[in-house]
Amino acid sequence: MFENLKEQPADKILALMGMYKADPRDDKIDLGVGVYKNAEGVTPVMRAVKAAEQKIWEEQTTKAYTGLAGDPDYADALINLVLGDAVTRDQVAAVATPGGTGAVRQAFEMIKMGNPEARVFVSDPTWPNHLSILKYLGMEVVPYRYFDSETGGVAFDGMVEDLKGLKAGDVVLLHGCCHNPTGANLNMTQWREVVALLNDKGALPMIDIAYQGFGDGLDEDAAGTRYVAENVPELLIAASCSKNFGIYRERTGLLMAVSADAGKTKLAQGTLAYLNRQNYSFPPDHGARIVSTILNDPALRADWAGELEDVRLSMLGLRKQLADELQKLSGSDRFAFLGQHRGMFSRLGTTPELVEKMRAESGIYMVGDSRMNIAGLNTQTVPILAKAIIDAGV
Ligand code: PMP
Repeated sequence: MFENLKEQPADKILALMGMYKADPRDDKIDLGVGVYKNAEGVTPVMRAVKAAEQKIWEEQTTKAYTGLAGDPDYADALINLVLGDAVTRDQVAAVATPGGTGAVRQAFEMIKMGNPEARVFVSDPTWPNHLSILKYLGMEVVPYRYFDSETGGVAFDGMVEDLKGLKAGDVVLLHGCCHNPTGANLNMTQWREVVALLNDKGALPMIDIAYQGFGDGLDEDAAGTRYVAENVPELLIAASCSKNFGIYRERTGLLMAVSADAGKTKLAQGTLAYLNRQNYSFPPDHGARIVSTILNDPALRADWAGELEDVRLSMLGLRKQLADELQKLSGSDRFAFLGQHRGMFSRLGTTPELVEKMRAESGIYMVGDSRMNIAGLNTQTVPILAKAIIDAGV
């Protein structure tokens, strides 16, 4: 049977990591894979995570299964972190999932169960896993314009025009903050306009929020999501704790289904638990327990929020330094958008040929679509990158 299997396409980012490792140049720079790295190039375990793990180790008396939806304390804590008081707890059905990816996958499956005809509108570009999971599930994808490579900002007029093609029951996938791969985000006026359009069309929003706290702050980054939750009849949210708690490998996510109607919330809760059961039964618990331990302990929570704020500010500082350096070298403001982008990523907006040129000539490793992981930089490497960008003729 195995001989019938087809070769699957290699993951481009992992292939890039392999090339980076094999490159002997000392001044090479890795801007590829999407994990936060500090100035020393390390992805650290956050202090509060270490402390929470110690507390769990000391206090945990059993490793017996949790419920199908995961630990209720985790769901309560994360719902509160993402949604604040935008909705009441009884308006939210939620299940723990293996990472944000698990939540995205389950959300798509729930959409398929609720409306097999639904088309899913996704930003062009979006996180490639959105596209590959939708393809795998056989769901129809409709791209909407999102990034303007001339300005480096959101192509909002094009986005609205494309969303006018929505039919009732279609789904619109939005990034809650820190858009991956572009770094360009909707402002609140634009969120309001999108919500009005969705309500007008009878479309269902789905928000993927994987970088809360990496952009403008924990509450600021959730503001769009909270506005949507307050103003639409139904909403799906896939949240990830991989980045903001730095617990990538613990696979910690939450899928939320928000509805104004308690009867619908109950149906959604049953469906989400059913989906967990079919796909992996009980969701992973260790990362979820780390998160709830931190969020429910005022001292740990304050320490975590402080460290996260340091991470956020360090990335903002690197953005500003890069934009300033490029302003100096180019004598123009055409790279100012890099300072306005938020989150870990920025799309430079250049061609695959120039991306390859920067790799070959200067040892700069960025994804072929010119996505850069800003956290792959430090204050010493920013000028090297800026020079490489100008030397390549971007
Ligand atoms: N959504 C987006 C947009 C992401 O960038 C990521 C992380 N790369 C995720 C979801 C999910 O990540 P994880 O499964 O590691 O939590």
